[in-house]
Amino acid sequence: MKTIILKPDNNGINEAVRLLKSGEIAAIPTETVYGLAANALDPAAIEKIFIAKGRPRNNPLIVHVSDLEMAKGLGLEIPLLAEKLAEKFWAGPLTMIFKRKSPTVESRLPAEVSCGLDTAAVRVPAHETALEIIKVCGFPLAAPSANASGSPSPTKARHVYDDLNGLIPLIIDGGECGCGVESTVIAFEAGRVRILRPGAVTPEQLQEFAEVIIDDVVLADCQPSTVNRQLPSPGTAHKHYSPKAQVIAVVAESEDAFLSYTAEADFIIAKPEANTFFAKLREFDNHGAKQIFIRLPEPKGIGLALYNRIIRAAEFNVIKAKE
Ligand code: AMP
Ligand code: MG
Repeated sequence: MKTIILKPDNNGINEAVRLLKSGEIAAIPTETVYGLAANALDPAAIEKIFIAKGRPRNNPLIVHVSDLEMAKGLGLEIPLLAEKLAEKFWAGPLTMIFKRKSPTVESRLPAEVSCGLDTAAVRVPAHETALEIIKVCGFPLAAPSANASGSPSPTKARHVYDDLNGLIPLIIDGGECGCGVESTVIAFEAGRVRILRPGAVTPEQLQEFAEVIIDDVVLADCQPSTVNRQLPSPGTAHKHYSPKAQVIAVVAESEDAFLSYTAEADFIIAKPEANTFFAKLREFDNHGAKQIFIRLPEPKGIGLALYNRIIRAAEFNVIKAKE
């Protein structure tokens, strides 16, 4: 298959809509990372996402809608707290997990989009092009990150091309993604919010609306084999976001301690930043890096999302820099 790259002008948007309406997939920009989109109501189109990415069959997809009204039409139980959060954070990088309505009321979303779970994850992207495509299509889009499964998330069209050239028909090049890190994924339980994947919306921001619990999967190594329970968010597995180089996560008291510890290393990230983190991993790979040393940030604010990505990129290979 030939992969074409188009600008996000009328021609590009029309072509994306044409493909999506005919059951095809297309990579589109969002404010977090590039997404690989398909009609979320069409199981055959959803299947194409899993094949192109090589995505494990137990990792459910996020459904992207144009607004809360569209979300309400999907046959999901949307609690009042979610409506408040939607008012504040949508359009934006907050993904909310909702229960499907009882089996007697048909959920409009096929089981395939959430890998057979009795829930579905929904968000509204804060990106002009993504929103326009959803609106013109008139249906929700399932859109995981547009990378090969397991590799660093794509924040530029070039990254999508490097991973998926020949596997998808179209990439809309909307330039660099603003956030550079994925959405925060939350679930609701008895008026509280549980963070299953930290992201661009911070726990501190959510705390203004409800009690926030950070699930164990966020900071710990929660492989199904190491925890005695079903993972609440199956996509939070052991290895993820990994470049070809080996990543070593470093706990250091200070930046100086990190720099002296890694003085001999060629590839280091002393101060990981959300909007450049994934791009740097790819850039270092392109420069032939064998090892990349990354200083772990404090797991607070956006640092929590970075911390979560770094320990997974490092396959939980964490070392302490000695002073
Ligand atoms: P990605 O789209 O590649 O950014 O990954 C989507 C994330 O959302 C993964 O961590 C999934 O596990 C999570 N997710 C999607 N749907 C659900 C769901 N119904 N329940 C729990 N987690 C979900
Ligand atoms: Mg992903």
